[in-house]
Amino acid sequence: MSSFSISKPAFQPGDNLSLVNTFRWPDKTFRNEYRVSQGPIATGLEPWLALALLPAMVAGMDIKLEQPVSPRLLENLGKIQDIFYSWENKTFHRVGIEAAPYSQPVIPADGRAVATFFSSGVDSFYTLFRHYAEIDSLVYMKNPFISVTDDAIVTGRIRKVAHLVEKPVLEVLPLVRAYTEPYVTWYYMHGAAMASCALLLAPQLSKAYFASTHSYSGMAPAGSHPILDGLWSTEEVEIVNDGAEATRFQKIEYVSQFDVALQNMQVCVWDLPDTEKFNCGKCHKCLITQAALRIAGKLDQCPVFAEPLDLEKLAQGDYDTYYHRTNLLEMLEVLEERGSDPALANALAAALANQRPLAHFQTFLGVDPEVAGLRHQMAGLRQELNVYRTALRYQLADRVNNYLGRNKAVHRAGEILAHGMARIFK
Ligand SMILES: [Zn+2]
Repeated sequence: MSSFSISKPAFQPGDNLSLVNTFRWPDKTFRNEYRVSQGPIATGLEPWLALALLPAMVAGMDIKLEQPVSPRLLENLGKIQDIFYSWENKTFHRVGIEAAPYSQPVIPADGRAVATFFSSGVDSFYTLFRHYAEIDSLVYMKNPFISVTDDAIVTGRIRKVAHLVEKPVLEVLPLVRAYTEPYVTWYYMHGAAMASCALLLAPQLSKAYFASTHSYSGMAPAGSHPILDGLWSTEEVEIVNDGAEATRFQKIEYVSQFDVALQNMQVCVWDLPDTEKFNCGKCHKCLITQAALRIAGKLDQCPVFAEPLDLEKLAQGDYDTYYHRTNLLEMLEVLEERGSDPALANALAAALANQRPLAHFQTFLGVDPEVAGLRHQMAGLRQELNVYRTALRYQLADRVNNYLGRNKAVHRAGEILAHGMARIFK
């Protein structure tokens, strides 16, 4: 098996908010960079190890670390690998990690903040409000793929919420997708990327909450996950997956009591660069959120959807993930129990009745970008399109984006193309 070494990162000359680490594989080189809005930032290897692991597992590359790292993290890397291997054993391979544990943490324990990663989504708001008194600050991990204009709009929204909830926000831009993209979908990578950002902020944070997407009652493989996130912790930073005790509907009902959530909730998969109505009102996440808000009696107080809830659209949707179907079923049960809103209950029942069987979770993952990898993907395309089309659509869109240019218009074009392909193969 090939291997590569991770050495100490370097600050951009004259800029102590931008840290660079180049990974040199035997046949290629990846320049990775993090930019933060406020220092200090950690110069240890832990953030880079969290970043390095999953693509290395896909490519089958052992990792060597050129300076000692957290013994706690080192000990848990085997378990992290076991989890990904059990989820996708055709894609992830166990790799060797050669490293020495440090004898004691570098950063003193006291005086650092408790933060929550925050995207202005339902899960984010839920964790923020549940731990409001404990949380000192928000961390916003920026999207490196959107245009400067869109980034300004999205970041502006986050800053506005931070101001309204009276918490400072730390912004981190991970310029790492040239390394991750060819190997691992962002669906799987984003948890490790968040962990990497949290560890990078170790001089400022002693604890970081990651808001859970899935509940304990509806777990499916995902890059940020209740069984996974805490394993990225070190002696310096405790990482905590939070909120899995609540279902999607329970979270929406809970956060809908806060006006700041109703006015600023960002749930749409399209992330519209509109300053006010930034949720399309048409995608599955929008429809499900609107339905939940209607049950909670708060839909008319939530002005962030570009279109009103369309029950016909809700009923006719093709919900191709376990997560979305669980959301629908849960809401139907709530309505049946409460005996309210028969029109919405009928739409939910119709939506559930319309679904085809779900296949095993194993998805169409990123592989090596070389021709062999693409050929492998094409061979599985027809089958996979029928297995997990949403993930595929985004995977294809990401890939088109990666090859053709890094701007949102191309990304959208890729998604539309992939969506069309999904229809053809249906
Ligand atoms: Zn939407």
